Amino acid sequence: MKIQKNAVVAINYKLTDASGELLDESAGQPLAFIYGTGQIIPGLETALDGRVAGDTFKVDIPAKDAYGEKYDEMIQKVPRSSLQGVNDLKVGMQLEAQAEDQTVVVMVTEVTDEFVTVDGNHPLAGVDLTFDVEIVEVRAATSEELDHGHVHGEHGHHH
Ligand code: ZN
Repeated sequence: MKIQKNAVVAINYKLTDASGELLDESAGQPLAFIYGTGQIIPGLETALDGRVAGDTFKVDIPAKDAYGEKYDEMIQKVPRSSLQGVNDLKVGMQLEAQAEDQTVVVMVTEVTDEFVTVDGNHPLAGVDLTFDVEIVEVRAATSEELDHGHVHGEHGHHH
């Protein structure tokens, strides 16, 4: 079958940035998802539309169709004293922060004696991506999978 809304799709992929650096890959563990339900980035959904198992392709996806643009307002400098409960503050560590009524994960990007800079952007925000994709499987989702909102079986959840 062709890839369409509510199809279960499993892909092998290699993800690189514009300079060709490898950012992520499936490495023998295909990524399985229910197509058309927002489980993968929009640019990849578009590129997969109508394809079939066995297809291989390469697609460039600009940041806005991937993990979004990088927003300066999501980068904040906070007084170090406000993070007194956190041990071993260092660049690259992730913290959970309360923003309005939800918890967001922020990355520490700078630490000085007085201030800590935290960045709430997705690590790949603002990054243009290239996907090398091999479509491993395309099938209709079961009603149980649609109920659960995730894929069961060989490439999915076991429960
Ligand atoms: Zn389930």
